[in-house]
Amino acid sequence: MTPLDFDARHLWHPYTNVLAPGPMHLITKAEGVWLTRDDGGQMIDAMSSWWCAVHGHRHPAITSAMHTQIDTLPHVMFGGLTHDPAIELGRKLVAMLPDGLDRIFYSDSGSVAIEVALKMAVQYQMAKGETGRTQFATIRGGYHGDTWKAMSVCDPVTGMHGLFAGALSIQHFLPRPPVGLTDDWSDDPALNGIGALSDLLDHNARSIAALILEPVVQGAGGMYFYHPEYLRQAQALCRAHGVLLILDEIATGFGRTGQMFAMDHADIVPDILCLGKALTGGHITLAATIASEEVARGIGESAAGVMMHGPTYMANPLACAAACASLDLLASGDWKTNVQSIEAQLRDGLAPAATLPGVRDVRVLGAIGVIEMHDPVDARIAHARAPETGVWLRPFGHNIYTMPPYIITPDELSRVTMAMVELAQGSSR
Ligand SMILES: *Cc1c(COP(=O)(O)O)cnc(C)c1O
Repeated sequence: MTPLDFDARHLWHPYTNVLAPGPMHLITKAEGVWLTRDDGGQMIDAMSSWWCAVHGHRHPAITSAMHTQIDTLPHVMFGGLTHDPAIELGRKLVAMLPDGLDRIFYSDSGSVAIEVALKMAVQYQMAKGETGRTQFATIRGGYHGDTWKAMSVCDPVTGMHGLFAGALSIQHFLPRPPVGLTDDWSDDPALNGIGALSDLLDHNARSIAALILEPVVQGAGGMYFYHPEYLRQAQALCRAHGVLLILDEIATGFGRTGQMFAMDHADIVPDILCLGKALTGGHITLAATIASEEVARGIGESAAGVMMHGPTYMANPLACAAACASLDLLASGDWKTNVQSIEAQLRDGLAPAATLPGVRDVRVLGAIGVIEMHDPVDARIAHARAPETGVWLRPFGHNIYTMPPYIITPDELSRVTMAMVELAQGSSR
């Protein structure tokens, strides 16, 4: 059996039919924006490997930090023990996050960070005597991960978990914020989506622990960009009703939207923040759930006292070392000009798609470029074409999109936008 035959016969891939996995590429090496296949061919990773590799693959500063770490302490349990990489990373996060968010819970993936956030919210509410607050509110079009409770706050249709609808706990779904990012804000609560939230909280607040949102950019639930004013008003309503606000910045954090965090577009600070994906610059898995002092103190002073969660690989030193190096690269500040240039070039490069017959919308924010089609796009077509175009794209739902590494050059990015427009053309009917 060839390696690819073995893979097809024995290995599950994400959201893929085991009996018809479609085209598969064997990657032997990654460097910068380039992925190398076993046949020697190369493709630009226009996905940043699911939005993580913001500095490109195998950045020397990150791999060297990892080499040093692996030679001294690759892992140790975090219960009762601590280590410099966790502490250093904590210092960096506290320094870069807004005041008031400084109680850090490390975990090993984004979905787990969401589970932890949801548990924190319930434990906090219990601590306050609000034992009825066990449900969550969210907006349609969201995606918060693949684990059981995280699935329940994903969009019931576009959030990839519709299949499980009957088995998931029922949460409160509000309409997607109707005012788009670049639209003029409407003060009419019936038109700006705030009326629906206000109604929900007026009638159900005592059963709701938290509102969970991806700020400004909804990722895997549909790549929709909404108006930051929604976040400001939502936060005010949550406060008035004793409902915590959880922001999921797993996709948007670390510069992707043009601000360090998407919440900066709205200038708000949530009660609980979730980070993941680009935290290690895409080199190894790590996530964090960061609570306000109020939430941490509430849980600490409760009868239970402890936060009831503790992943085996919590605060893995190797991952923390990679994250420290990645945050140092961001601290140099180059990401901001890079993301601005990417944004400008994406606007130009994707504009030709807007007039194609099958295209519903073209939108860009920071280093995110989306061509939304009227019909669903077959990812397998993009996968099959990648060796020819030299661009690795993985469309989902109706969206052909890119989230390139920030270090991509203008020439490389032109190849990406051309491949996207071409794919939109091929998918247009
Ligand atoms: C990817 C993602 C998650 C889940 O993270 P995993 O590391 O895949 O578990 C959660 N929320 C958002 C917004 C994401 O983009």
